[in-house]
Amino acid sequence: MPSEKVVLSIVIPVFNEAEMLPRLFQELDRVRAGTLRGHGPLEIVLVDDGSTDASWSLISARCQRDLACIGVKLSRNFGHQLALVAGLETARGDVIVSMDADLQDPPEVISEMLAAHHQGYDVVYATRAARGKESWGKRVSARFFYFAIEKLSGVPIPRNTGDFRLMSRRALAELTKLRESHRFLRGLVPWIGFPQTQIFYDRGDRTGGQTHYPWHKMLRLAVDGIASMSQAPLRLAYAVSLMLFAVFVGYILYVFIKHLVGGAELVPGWTSIMSAITIFGTIQLLLLGLFGEYLGRVYEQVKHRPLYVVQEIRRAAKEGNAATVIASTGQLTPLTLQ
Ligand code: UDP
Ligand code: MG
Repeated sequence: MPSEKVVLSIVIPVFNEAEMLPRLFQELDRVRAGTLRGHGPLEIVLVDDGSTDASWSLISARCQRDLACIGVKLSRNFGHQLALVAGLETARGDVIVSMDADLQDPPEVISEMLAAHHQGYDVVYATRAARGKESWGKRVSARFFYFAIEKLSGVPIPRNTGDFRLMSRRALAELTKLRESHRFLRGLVPWIGFPQTQIFYDRGDRTGGQTHYPWHKMLRLAVDGIASMSQAPLRLAYAVSLMLFAVFVGYILYVFIKHLVGGAELVPGWTSIMSAITIFGTIQLLLLGLFGEYLGRVYEQVKHRPLYVVQEIRRAAKEGNAATVIASTGQLTPLTLQ
């Protein structure tokens, strides 16, 4: 491993982005020679999240000749958030920037983020001033989602902010201590605390390839976000069941008293029995579902699985320096080249 200290790490998760990678490399080269020049040694960590196209061969070819490039290949598709975690945990820089591979996060913004960091901020979010040509549905759902998650979790989550952000080494060290398996980094990073700020940029459109966030994945992210940041749904279930219990007890008392004073029938009619059975059955199922959601998380957490599995790491080794081999656990084992 090169012994010189890495000042800036740029972490990029990649999933089937063969079409975008050449342009991404070009843009990165441009900022490296331009605005990022003079910021000290830099590394680029590219995490291939189980791509099925030519992404990995492009990454490994690049990492063969570029000393600043580290390619990490995950053994299958673990999803954007975990690919990001894999990259963040590989990064060695004092300052770590994460961004998407599709150039919707323009690399020129990195130098502005660094400027904000130098003013003493540990976390700098790059927030979209314009969301490009995103669909109306995606815009509205994003707005609602951020509002809901902030109210439910009590953690201020910067709006319109994806995973384009800068973190200091100490912020990242705290983040990597959180080992939960259902991760929602956009909520966990504000949770860490430390001085945080945001800068604004215009988010462009994807110019190649296609989004990997169809509706069902966005919904999954939303559920992960809410359930990992808040126990409010669990408390809601508790509140609803208490309320229903009160109604139920009130009804029994009513029938019982009516029976005592007026001699009315204790057995209510078919309709009321059926509606009670249906309502309670439905609500019990709903609550069971909610408990299942959390129980599933507890189960997964208790298993202590590694969050991701690295299959291969590719980086150019300088002669006489140590190269690295990868054990199946994803741990780096130094191996000195003769
Ligand atoms: N990505 C990933 N694994 C996945 C899905 C996406 O590593 O399972 C990467 C993708 O290559 C891109 C980033 O995550 O660099 C964001 O994905 P995308 O651009 O598809 O999301 P969108 O911008 O549409 O929300
Ligand atoms: Mg994108």
